[in-house]
Amino acid sequence: MSSIMGKTKKMSSIMGKTLHVDLTKGKITEGKGIEEKLWKQYIGGRGLGEKLIWDHIGKPPYSTPDEARKFALTPENRYVIMTGPLTGTPVPTSGRFAVAFISPLSGTTSACIAGSRFGMLTKRAGYDAIIIDGKAENPCYLYITDETQEIHDASDLWGKITYETNDILLEKHGKRACVACIGPAGEMCAPIANIAHNKDSFAGRTGAGAVWGSKNLKAVVVNGKQKIGIAKPEEFKEVNRKVAALIKEKPTTGEYLHTRGTIVLMHVENMHGTLGVKNFSETGNLSYEDCNKISGETFWNNHLFDRAPCYGCPIGCHRQLYINGKFLPQAEYELTWGFGTNVGNLDPYIVTKAGELCGRYGIDGISAGNILGYAMESTVKGAHDFGITWGDKEGILRVVEEMGKGVGVGAELQMGVKRCAEKYPETADYAMHVKGNELPAYDPRTMAGVDLGYATSPRGADHMKSYMVGCNTLGTQITPKELLERTILNKDKITFTIGMQHESVFYDSAVLCLFLALTPVGVEDTASLLSTATGMDMSTSELITSEERIFNGERLWNTASGFTADDDSIPKRFTTEQTPYGGSKGTLSRLKKAKKMFYEERGWGKDGVPEPWLTKYLDLDEMRKTLGV
Ligand code: SF4
Repeated sequence: MSSIMGKTKKMSSIMGKTLHVDLTKGKITEGKGIEEKLWKQYIGGRGLGEKLIWDHIGKPPYSTPDEARKFALTPENRYVIMTGPLTGTPVPTSGRFAVAFISPLSGTTSACIAGSRFGMLTKRAGYDAIIIDGKAENPCYLYITDETQEIHDASDLWGKITYETNDILLEKHGKRACVACIGPAGEMCAPIANIAHNKDSFAGRTGAGAVWGSKNLKAVVVNGKQKIGIAKPEEFKEVNRKVAALIKEKPTTGEYLHTRGTIVLMHVENMHGTLGVKNFSETGNLSYEDCNKISGETFWNNHLFDRAPCYGCPIGCHRQLYINGKFLPQAEYELTWGFGTNVGNLDPYIVTKAGELCGRYGIDGISAGNILGYAMESTVKGAHDFGITWGDKEGILRVVEEMGKGVGVGAELQMGVKRCAEKYPETADYAMHVKGNELPAYDPRTMAGVDLGYATSPRGADHMKSYMVGCNTLGTQITPKELLERTILNKDKITFTIGMQHESVFYDSAVLCLFLALTPVGVEDTASLLSTATGMDMSTSELITSEERIFNGERLWNTASGFTADDDSIPKRFTTEQTPYGGSKGTLSRLKKAKKMFYEERGWGKDGVPEPWLTKYLDLDEMRKTLGV
């Protein structure tokens, strides 16, 4: 496969340089910028980050998902920190960046999106991407500014939690810097380990932290000061003003998320009967009064201390609480499910504290909450005794901490539910995952398209890779009325699911917040933002084709990694047991039918592999040939 590094070209909001770190050789070199053609074809963030991985590895040196998971923790796995074409500009929600790697949890190609000032300061140091290869001999961290690119010893940081590591490095390098770091879970390569940025924003899902641990990389500190340009300032300002106004005007982003945060969803999803309860065994079995104990309104009224948005975001869904005499970050909706309804707990402090412990030790909160539900149901139903049952408040905090430290029952549970169920086969029915990635909060039986989204997501169960919740229960601006019927499964629903997958590709690659998908901001607006910021002429049709290219590139990669149509599945519970209670009582996933329609609509064969005409159209033939698919 040819190199994607082209002539260095400064395109206003694109810096035109990359930074290559070889940890094995202990060497850092500046690389050329990425070709303009590839920015257009892969947009940035998720798309370009993964492309930099695929081109580096070429044909995967493995042929099964299990081998892929093992490969993910070898020095040959590459880790890419990739900014987007709008990172560091004034575009609302652009204070984000992507990371890409082969996942040690799922074995798939994976890209995570995180907030904080990390992406902006990376770009202001002059780099569109930081590419990390190899493995250091001893624990180390990277220090990157406009003038300095250094590998430092981190032996004295090894073993420390993320909060302490963050504070020590800021003390050393100045408070303006931003720190990304792993905690003890990452150091021991736990497949659910994440990377913390500035204590409150995480590259969370599918084990990014374990990849750093396997490389002996404890942290990356960035602090750039360069100006990020805009190619056509006047036109850019105009469209940017329009986007900001649309965000404000839509109640979901202008009011609900702004005031309550993502946990505004607690009552909404509970009312629809889509909020998982007790590892999805009792979905719908939650009264309004009980739900209210951990609702957005309750946290807003009783515990809100301050907002803590991603850099420059007017929506500002993140916040700080004052609860039980402590200042703690508010748990997101997914964690309020995970440490709340999923485990039979309605104590707002326990929910919040469990989320904070995940951040401290560096583990993914969605996986951790899901794993607790698995452990509790397995114990209660007599399949295997993990020593914890529904609603055990002290047990929730204890087991989260044990997963973070890799001790006690946490030493097994930090491997994820798939591997635990392989070890204890009698617990398999309670392991809620797709391709090894633990399910998030939404019960996939209750919304057609959510099941399909989980099953066909490029990195396993993931609500953010196809936000069909937006269509089914929130009603995005562009949702046709008839599709608001949650259980309807027709060609339009399939087309809409594909559209949402592509929308996720776009926002992850541009890198903007997916919540813009809940506003009337359209593809013309986003194409215009990209064109006016970078100076590249980006038409809407090129953008739409790029989204499809990236999604199908991910599919080709996973096919070459040994994933088949059989892996596009969801746990048995959702296709065999009807939803027992509440607003969605009696629903059952019809995934088999949906998958057939989806493959046809996508241009994939019955085996789930993109047809040759499609890869030709998407300019993916060279990749396909290299992969031997
Ligand atoms: S809406 Fe929330 S997650 Fe999205 S950019 Fe703003 S603060 Fe960050």
